[in-house]
Amino acid sequence: MDCLFCKIVEGTIPSEKVFEDEFTYVFKDVNPEAPVHLLIVPKKHITSVDYLEEKDKELIGHIFLVAKNLAKEFKLNNGYRIVNNTGEDGGQSVKHLHFHLLGGRSFNWPPG
Ligand code: 5GP
Ligand code: ZN
Repeated sequence: MDCLFCKIVEGTIPSEKVFEDEFTYVFKDVNPEAPVHLLIVPKKHITSVDYLEEKDKELIGHIFLVAKNLAKEFKLNNGYRIVNNTGEDGGQSVKHLHFHLLGGRSFNWPPG
C-alpha cells in the first residue's frame, strides 16, 4: 500500500523515532508546530477515525496511555494538546490515523 506512515513504521522512509511498542510507533513531526510535536500512529493501517471498528477500541485507549506517558517523559507538566484531524474539513493530510502530541507552549482555543 502506498502510505507514507506505513512506510515510516516499516522503516523504508526514515523518521526520528521517539518510542515504539507492539501496537504503536511515535516519531517527531517533520514540520513542528510546537517545541514538542510528536506523531503517535498505530502500526496497523487505519485510514482515519472514520474507519475505526469495534475491535480497535483497545488500541485507541492504548494510544492515549502512550500519549500520557510521553507527555511525562517530555516534561509537559504544564499541559499539552492531543489532536486528531479527520477528513478534508478536519485538515487531515496523511491518510493513516495519527494523533499529534503537542507541548512546550500554550495553545489557543478555539482552533483556527
Ligand atoms: P495531518 O495534517 O494529516 O493531521 O498531519 C500530518 C502531519 O505529518 C503534519 O504535521 C506533517 O508535518 C507531518 N508529516 C508529513 N510528512 C511527514 C514525514 O515524511 N515525516 C514526518 N516526520 N512527518 C511528516
Ligand atoms: Zn498506512
